[in-house]
Amino acid sequence: MTTKTPIKAEPMTVEQKEALEANAWRQAMAQLDRAAAKLGMEQFLVERLRHCKRILTVSVPVVMDDGSLKVFEGYRVHHNTDRGPAKGGIRYHHAVSLDEVKALAFWMTMKCAVVELPYGGAKGGVICDPRKMSQAELQRMTRRFTSEIAFFIGPDRDIPAPDVNTNPQTMSWIMDTYSHLVGKATPGVVTGKPIEIGGSRGRVEATGRGVFYIARELSQVEGFDLRQKTVAVQGFGNVGMNAARIFSEHGVKVVGVSDVSGGLYDKKGLDIEAIIKWQKAHGGLIAGYPEAEAVPVDKFVEVVCDILIPAAMENEITQRNAPKIQAKYIIEGANGPTSTEADAILRERGIMVVPDILANAGGVTVSYFEWVQDIQAYFWNEKEINAKLQEIMARSFAEIYEIHKKEKVDMRLAAFMLGLRRLGAAVRLRGVFP
Ligand code: NAD
Repeated sequence: MTTKTPIKAEPMTVEQKEALEANAWRQAMAQLDRAAAKLGMEQFLVERLRHCKRILTVSVPVVMDDGSLKVFEGYRVHHNTDRGPAKGGIRYHHAVSLDEVKALAFWMTMKCAVVELPYGGAKGGVICDPRKMSQAELQRMTRRFTSEIAFFIGPDRDIPAPDVNTNPQTMSWIMDTYSHLVGKATPGVVTGKPIEIGGSRGRVEATGRGVFYIARELSQVEGFDLRQKTVAVQGFGNVGMNAARIFSEHGVKVVGVSDVSGGLYDKKGLDIEAIIKWQKAHGGLIAGYPEAEAVPVDKFVEVVCDILIPAAMENEITQRNAPKIQAKYIIEGANGPTSTEADAILRERGIMVVPDILANAGGVTVSYFEWVQDIQAYFWNEKEINAKLQEIMARSFAEIYEIHKKEKVDMRLAAFMLGLRRLGAAVRLRGVFP
């Protein structure tokens, strides 16, 4: 009889470990598994959620300004539509990948369930470097991408919105292209549009404002005065810049901000309006602003502050820097900024993380208001929008905080438990077709 020598698994190299940690889909599935196990969810249901409902890959040929032709790769993913039409942003970034878009779509499914919006989850992305493209090239790419995914989207099917490097202008091009293709003005096909073509008041600031509302709720239940705390915000785009501005307008000291070009720090508090002016005058980047200490981009999350708001990209808080984080609270403005490995370290260290699927849900919430307004062709004022947003954020926070306390679980697990209960009920009720 011959005995087989067992094949010894090679230990993973640091690079292999980091590549695994950086894979957003793997992180998302680890979060799903953890919450499903805690809930004792049926395997069949978990299996359904481990698969995206539909995945579309398109090629997007674009004539560049110099006459050359470039072909970009784009994706639109519907993760789940059991609770309603699919909803989620479109990202333009050189590091877009199908796994990333799938993870972001999954997080949208969870987020819409957490804040009880009648939507499923979607996401889209195009692999490109928008900083190296002209407005005309971006417009041609957006219109061609829209035409390639046109059969996949629609006001009652899948409603895109802005995400990293896309904005109200991008949404205008999508809305216009789609409207031409279907032969009628269809504002409800996208949200995050300018107000002039059916956008909602308060949408641009909604995600940052939602982050602020969450911080306020947190301060009340944890018994601290927000104005006595210091805040650092990573990322100075739609979410980060608006969050920094709104915290600062409410008398909260923002001691740090950063973007791809660099970080800024002042323990006495930064002048956010002055940094916004500097950013506008310097190609949309904040580096070089003279009235603050410069912090390297990759060290920013380690700055001294009470509340850290990652509002840039995924996997910024990793097992490398999690042990060095000085904040007591992390409120996730970005999607997936904390890796599963880092999450465990932060739990161990007693740092509370308010998860993305709750903390940045202000954006999709006001997108929902925009869609409702478009469908009924009746528009609300900003006071009404902000009041409704505040109500939804406060209610969702309270529901999750209660689970966190009652079940003695961290806030991420509590949010996933709430979302999965709602989503699970919908999947069970609808059953399996045929
Ligand atoms: P944006 O393109 O407007 O801004 C992104 C910002 O992050 C820019 O300032 C960029 O310079 C900066 N950045 C990129 N990499 C960085 C790094 N390594 N360190 C520091 N800064 C870095 O994008 P956005 O819409 O603000 O989105 C930011 C995050 O928030 C993403 O995770 C997105 O999915 C999430 N989000 C956005 C919305 C929304 O309404 N726009 C809603 C919910 C969640």
